[in-house]
Amino acid sequence: MQNSVISYPRIGALRELKFAVEKYFKQTSSKEELFELAKNLRKRHWQSQKEAGIDFISCNDFSFYDNILDTANIFGVVAKRYKELNLDSLDEYFAQARGYQGDKGDVRALAMKKWFNTNYHYLVPECDDVSLIKLNHSKILNEYKEAKELGIEAKVVISGLFTFYKLINFANDGLKNEALSKLKQCYIELLTKLNKEGVKWLQFDEPYLVYDLSSADIALFKDIYTDLLSKKANVKILLQTYFGDVRDIYDDLLKLEFDAIGLDFLEGKESLNLIKKGFDDKKILFAGLVNGKNIYKNNYKKTIDTVNELKKYVKNLVLNTSCSLLHSPYSIKHETKLDKKYLEYLAFAEEKLIELKELKEILSSDNFSENALFKANLELFSKENNRKNEAVFARVNALKADDYKRKPEFEQRRSIQKEALKLPILPTTTIGSFPQTSDVRSNRLAFKQQKISATQYTEFNQTKIKECIKFQEEIGLDVLVHGEFERNDMVEYFGESLDGFLFTQNGWVQSYGTRCVKPPIIWSDVSRSKPMTVAWSKFAQEQSKKPLKGMLTGPVTILNWSFPREDISTKESTLQIALAIRDEVLDLEKAGIKIIQIDEAALREKLPLRKSDWHSEYLDWAIPAFNLVHSGVRPETQIHTHMCYSEFSDIIKEIDAMDADVISFEASRSNLELLDTLKQNNFKTEVGPGVYDIHSPRVPSVDELKNTIKAILSKLPKEQIWINPDCGLKTRGEKEVIQSLKNMSEAASEIRKEL
Ligand code: GLN
Ligand code: ZN
Repeated sequence: MQNSVISYPRIGALRELKFAVEKYFKQTSSKEELFELAKNLRKRHWQSQKEAGIDFISCNDFSFYDNILDTANIFGVVAKRYKELNLDSLDEYFAQARGYQGDKGDVRALAMKKWFNTNYHYLVPECDDVSLIKLNHSKILNEYKEAKELGIEAKVVISGLFTFYKLINFANDGLKNEALSKLKQCYIELLTKLNKEGVKWLQFDEPYLVYDLSSADIALFKDIYTDLLSKKANVKILLQTYFGDVRDIYDDLLKLEFDAIGLDFLEGKESLNLIKKGFDDKKILFAGLVNGKNIYKNNYKKTIDTVNELKKYVKNLVLNTSCSLLHSPYSIKHETKLDKKYLEYLAFAEEKLIELKELKEILSSDNFSENALFKANLELFSKENNRKNEAVFARVNALKADDYKRKPEFEQRRSIQKEALKLPILPTTTIGSFPQTSDVRSNRLAFKQQKISATQYTEFNQTKIKECIKFQEEIGLDVLVHGEFERNDMVEYFGESLDGFLFTQNGWVQSYGTRCVKPPIIWSDVSRSKPMTVAWSKFAQEQSKKPLKGMLTGPVTILNWSFPREDISTKESTLQIALAIRDEVLDLEKAGIKIIQIDEAALREKLPLRKSDWHSEYLDWAIPAFNLVHSGVRPETQIHTHMCYSEFSDIIKEIDAMDADVISFEASRSNLELLDTLKQNNFKTEVGPGVYDIHSPRVPSVDELKNTIKAILSKLPKEQIWINPDCGLKTRGEKEVIQSLKNMSEAASEIRKEL
């Protein structure tokens, strides 16, 4: 049996590419240096795959920023504004990725979007001039030849036309038909070129096929591939899918002339059942069984059982990763601080290559159950690993329907809170964090490195809190925050304070471009051994008579931004985290905090790709997990939540069912439409639609803010509205924050007078 890797990560084991690209951005290195480093990285990555004996190694999976952006440039789907800058191709590429401001002009970047159900973000290609569409395949051929020099006959990987076309943002619908037919010509031309070059395999990535497909989608796909496949000549075509199953189009895929089809047997719930309907003996099945987006070792027994099941229906089988390894960190060999008892369960990208190699070896042996590698893996998975905390387990099991229900009902609480808090109409507040200036970060770092004492660390933060409270009072905000100076990151901070999480030194995963994230690992049952935020909030509240809002991250967000466990369900893990945060909520309340905000910045992110799964697989436990966190508070305690986006018209009922008293959200562009939807749905929760965009350093004027507030007032009753920025202020500079908040507070107070 042969094995294959869909794509390999490119950022480098120690984020070499990130640093090189950033150096180039800062103009402290040359184009040549950047190209040289990129070439060496590609070489290293191919070599690790070659050493692991991978049979199908990809080329053209490298990218300076993003693969979809590469595809757009290969086919000339580039918005006119970038062409008009007259830059060389690399700089034109980066101008699309990050915008350009310089002597040649001033243009904004392409929009960025989440890549399916991952935490990776791609750049959304824009098409406003069809005449620019033409093939430029030099990147592909260069990489193919580079691999060849290393003795690797690489399969060329590229986004398939169907998925690519679906991701393009067209300036107007009138462009679509012509663009499609030109793109089809370009793909055909590419096939010709690859044939000439002697390329043996071409992999078209078509993850869009795992969404719910309409009959128009299916017709479009068939139309595209009937044409392309008739021109494939000697190049063999692998149609690769991932992140789900292809139930809507499986039968059609079999009828088309693909040489191989790649299916995901981990996230694709229906994949095995589809295969049981029958496969095609002339085709090869690339079976995605080694997880490309987790960090845990493969359970060989499970994998081999599936392979054996598949063999009953499939003649030609290749063992594959379930998706690109881009979504997994590089290698555990750079983890020097994690104990062996944890490391032996972990597999990052490099270790996954070893798994592919070992599985191939085991599957080729006559009696796999006697194979030493197999036995070692079996033993690992049957060993006791102390991840269970009986008390936590019992607590989750004992939960009753009533525990998820806040009492009394919303309207009743609302009047109790009005009485208790005595807030003015249009109360003003912020989302929590204040600028993380360099002194704030150095203080945290010095404490972490034990260069200063706990007292010194605390005193510094207390001074910051005092200043922050004083400022908020001076400008007249109504609900204050402590500023979150103790937090590096809204998930990491809680992960570090809770029991059950592990942290890596280099478990970086590309999030977009040069930005990587290092998610914590949920290792075992989660519990809270002591309060995590109470001392800071209490200290802050003592500085003012105005109500101070305690700040917490919600369980769904903590889970979504961590690597989840695989031995228990996500639901179970989330409920454990919810109980821990619930204890914190109750402790804050006990300490005299009257308003508590529980951020669910990532709630929307993990909505399943298929709408039919939204409830059963996600919302039905995610929303109750949030309810569990706050259902124990007194009626007069006001619960807020925050979301970093406003696209929730399709889950509006569920957001309302979170049963918070107030929700703040991002609302810079699409806001007003959402407000209409809120009204139509009788949204009960009070709302703070962000009145200005904190993702830009721009300071909004009082007049501008007044207009925004008036626009909001024209949509919703004034009693339901809060005034706040659209997200936390930690990434902003102090100067602009001071001015923007002053203006916001003034705008609110002027409007109040007018009302
Ligand atoms: N309370 C957090 C902050 O203000 C929320 C951050 C977020 O929504 N991403 O920083
Ligand atoms: Zn936010």
